[in-house]
Amino acid sequence: MSELTAQVFEISRGTTHDGPGMRTTVFLKGCPLRCAWCQNPEGMRTEREIWWEARQCINCRECIAACPHGALADDAHGLHRGATCTVCGACVDACPAQAMAFTSREWSLDGLLHEVLKDREYFHAFGGGVTVSGGEPLCQAAFVSAFFQRLRAEGVHTTLDTCGLASRTVLQSVLPHADAVLFDIKFIDSALHARFTGQPNAVILENLLVIAGHARSHGQTLWIRTPLIPQTTATEENITAVGRFIRERLHDVVERWELCAFNNACNRKYQKMARSWPYTNEPLMRQTTVDGLRTAAVTAGVAEEKLVVSGLIARDTV
Ligand code: SF4
Ligand code: SF4
Repeated sequence: MSELTAQVFEISRGTTHDGPGMRTTVFLKGCPLRCAWCQNPEGMRTEREIWWEARQCINCRECIAACPHGALADDAHGLHRGATCTVCGACVDACPAQAMAFTSREWSLDGLLHEVLKDREYFHAFGGGVTVSGGEPLCQAAFVSAFFQRLRAEGVHTTLDTCGLASRTVLQSVLPHADAVLFDIKFIDSALHARFTGQPNAVILENLLVIAGHARSHGQTLWIRTPLIPQTTATEENITAVGRFIRERLHDVVERWELCAFNNACNRKYQKMARSWPYTNEPLMRQTTVDGLRTAAVTAGVAEEKLVVSGLIARDTV
């Protein structure tokens, strides 16, 4: 039997918002949603991808010479990969400056386990563990299920960070092995959800209720996260609707509701992938705007002590 592997695009150490305590977060490639504001464009597709960092490029043209398919060309705006690219990686191997690079790396189960267990001491010291995020981790559910089981056997706390869009079978293959779940509620209005993420939210909210039932009966931790995206999710109407849903369906089991303020720090990722992004010039949210949304959340009936606001916020000038 071949060993399970996963495409991982980032391993982030010492994270403090991805579950209880101080954690190591593993980001897996692949997501069924296409959120307009996505901060991790390299996590959308499951397949390997290549990006190019202009600032690192020394213009040696080794990559162009190495390409067996003539897929690379350069002009005044930089290097471009054409439709004949097979993502073979010859240009990556040829690049002496690491300007041309794969966005992800394939990890074996044993290899990834060994890597994250290097942080075991601070998991124990700060009550943390390992979070699997993405992308959407349930796109690589067989790996995540096995990874969580191995981590638990090592006494390490496991957290699943999910957008919630997966079949019930896939969800059930991972859920029993997670000590905590971080679940994104972006919109309650399904039409808005479909407009901004590419998918309606009926399955997502049904899965959330399944997770809540599991959390009630197994003592699992459940946190909700809502990204605050200007002119998108960050409206009083939407935050009120999410707040009401939490109050009416989940209030006994949700430990925390995090409102995550938007920033455009991922601009460079879109540039490296040669993709445009509608939020490129979107400024940080203002404190008064975030305060208003927090008030809407409390007014909707969510206990103030469950609310957390995270992210960069611009101070109001007086
Ligand atoms: S990945 Fe392979 S085919 Fe694509 S540009 Fe690089 S060398 Fe050419
Ligand atoms: S091989 Fe690397 S450094 Fe040289 S031109 Fe290509 S991307 Fe730039």
